[in-house]
Amino acid sequence: MSPASTPRTLILGGTTEASRLAAALAARGLPAILSYAGRTAAPRAQPVPVRTGGFGGAAGLAAYLRAEGIGQVIDATHPFAARISANAVAACAATGMPLLALERPEWAPGPGDRWTRVADIPTAVAALDMAPRRVFLAIGRQTLAPFAAHPHHYLLRLVDPPDGLPLPDCTVEIARGPFDPAMDRALMERYRIDLIVAKNAGGAGGEAKLIAARALGLPVILIDRPALPVRDTVSTVEEVLARLHANLGV
Ligand code: NAP
Repeated sequence: MSPASTPRTLILGGTTEASRLAAALAARGLPAILSYAGRTAAPRAQPVPVRTGGFGGAAGLAAYLRAEGIGQVIDATHPFAARISANAVAACAATGMPLLALERPEWAPGPGDRWTRVADIPTAVAALDMAPRRVFLAIGRQTLAPFAAHPHHYLLRLVDPPDGLPLPDCTVEIARGPFDPAMDRALMERYRIDLIVAKNAGGAGGEAKLIAARALGLPVILIDRPALPVRDTVSTVEEVLARLHANLGV
């Protein structure tokens, strides 16, 4: 099959890996469309067409797949984006569409790490029941409100300046990853951070804060990934390309 006659690949994105996959498909002349939820005000420019916003649940996504002549779906969303991933499984099952997940391996502790693993946001909040600390709350901006239960000073790192925040005592650093350990160490020293709360997202850019925490001897509360339906999964862009090559002959 020639690249031009290949059915379009829908990439569910919002991650570095999704952007890398989009670039790789574009470089091979393979038609693709990259889908964003629309959480970031100005996403990076992409070499493939982009669509933005929810599909309207699994049924909406199934209707989109049928209407847009999609041939396969690559779920390259963040490992904590559980709803869209579950919707992708349901929509692909309903339409008979091939689905492949591109999922980064989890981070694993190394010597010197002081990690406390917790199951979810509520248990992370419960683990912070202690005298006020200076906490680097590195979990994005969507699930901040429960952390107001404790009188800690929170450092947040966000992509866009927020309209309003549910935390009375916080500092916001505006920055877009990937980050590096030296930069994150300097950030933690500048804000005199005592403790880090992070999601076990995996990936090199986000790991910088854990490497910096190890170097500074700081404790980390690390939130485990949410459970997802079983799906066919690979962990690198190269594996996605190999699978497309095997399945489509391109
Ligand atoms: P979520 O809870 O799984 O999704 C909530 C809803 O947002 C979905 O039901 C879907 O709406 C829509 N949606 C999510 N991702 C979409 C996509 N790529 N294209 C179109 N619609 C999408 O997801 P989330 O945790 O809010 O994350 C939203 C986006 O941010 C994801 O694309 C993810 O890759 C990215 N992201 C998330 C995190 C995180 O920590 N959660 C971190 C970095 C990046 P409908 O049901 O209406 O289709």
